[in-house]
Amino acid sequence: MMKVQLYNTASRSVEEFAPIHPPEARIYSCGMTVYSFAHIGHLKTYIASDILRRTLEFAGYEVRHVMNVTDVGHMTSDEDEGDDKMDVGAKKEGLSPWELARKYEEHFFNTIREVNIIRPQVICRATEHIQEQIELIQRLEKNGFTYITPAGVVFDSNKFDRYADFARLQLDGNIENFRTAADPDRKSPQDFSLWVLNKPNHVMQWDSPWGRGYPGWHIECSAMAMRYLGEELDIHTGGIDHIPVHHTNEIAQSECATGKTFARFWVHSAFLNVDGTKMSKSLGNLYTLDDCRAKGFTPLALRYFFLQSSYRKPINFTWDALEAAQTALAKIWEFCSELPAPSVEPLEDYLSEFRAALYDDLNTSAALAVVHKLIKSDADPAAKARTLFKMDDVLALDLATSRTRLNDLRTMRGATQDSEQKALELAQQRQELRKQKNFAEADRLRGEIEALGFTVMDTPAGPQVKPLG
Ligand SMILES: [Zn+2]
Repeated sequence: MMKVQLYNTASRSVEEFAPIHPPEARIYSCGMTVYSFAHIGHLKTYIASDILRRTLEFAGYEVRHVMNVTDVGHMTSDEDEGDDKMDVGAKKEGLSPWELARKYEEHFFNTIREVNIIRPQVICRATEHIQEQIELIQRLEKNGFTYITPAGVVFDSNKFDRYADFARLQLDGNIENFRTAADPDRKSPQDFSLWVLNKPNHVMQWDSPWGRGYPGWHIECSAMAMRYLGEELDIHTGGIDHIPVHHTNEIAQSECATGKTFARFWVHSAFLNVDGTKMSKSLGNLYTLDDCRAKGFTPLALRYFFLQSSYRKPINFTWDALEAAQTALAKIWEFCSELPAPSVEPLEDYLSEFRAALYDDLNTSAALAVVHKLIKSDADPAAKARTLFKMDDVLALDLATSRTRLNDLRTMRGATQDSEQKALELAQQRQELRKQKNFAEADRLRGEIEALGFTVMDTPAGPQVKPLG
């Protein structure tokens, strides 16, 4: 078995991966809070975990992958203030919090399937593991790491002397990462809720030894990870935004309950910016996979886009960059669609170069470079096919069904061009209506154009349309 090197956030260095129970590799990934659609930033993180999983399988490990679904509902800013996300979302959509959670959970798993993310063997909902969470809090209570305030059961971070180590936190000075004002009875701002009490407006509530209430956000991950993977994980994944609070708290509560190292490796995916700025709802640049499809992109173009750089590098998403990724992927599909039936043996030298790239902290951009090198080479086409399809076990770009993929893409692009043509015609009609001062009807047409996914630009040469966003 070739050794896989991974960057471990815990040590801030690249280390050789060695699981506790070889050949099994046990991975836990923080899942979604299911109160709205996953955006492309979430997909970046989950594609990174998928590449990790596939790479370990490529290296011969048997991966056991667990992902949670946060369906309990927590406060708006993942803190203890404000209204609960799930309650707010449910009211807005006229659903119960349970219905809302199921709706977005289903959408999420459909979305990740479209970018060829392998479904984890275990998907666990927080609402179905309340007992495990209560038992873990009881262990912490017994070990002396909790105290009780009118707001609930709180983790006493001062009792865990390594609390600040993982995120290299400066607890005395800068506390901007921490919740404030949530609970005036807390001893320290970084202390966090294990069980929340006295929130009558929160819809989801359960009985507990401390009274009726609901679990804090962090405890669910520790409780479910331990339930399905044991008290020591090989790898825990997530986005880097989770390092200072969520993962810091997972480590604190897990290690204070068990006395063991919770996860050997912490693998974090870097941020995704859009057009050079942070994605946010208010800026209107929080894109989903559905938005990409509406603009004529195949979901795998997004996967290819992420594979072009390291998961540890922040990337800037633009529609032009996605277009370039789609063009590059379509070229690979064109090449593969003309290959003969694959030979029996792959080209070992290319495969080992490909492996070396991936085993070097999942260097997908170097792995793609090997793909392009192989395509350009004068190797036997049947052997090329075998080798490329083998590489696709990790890349998951559907290379073996390239012809179908290419046809789907052309059909979709054709449909997008049709809507652009239609939008342009509407824009010309709208200009006529404006000349006739029929502004009401002109506004209606603008709405129709936007419904097609375009916006109108009035130029000296007449109206033009461009894709929204
Ligand atoms: Zn988590």
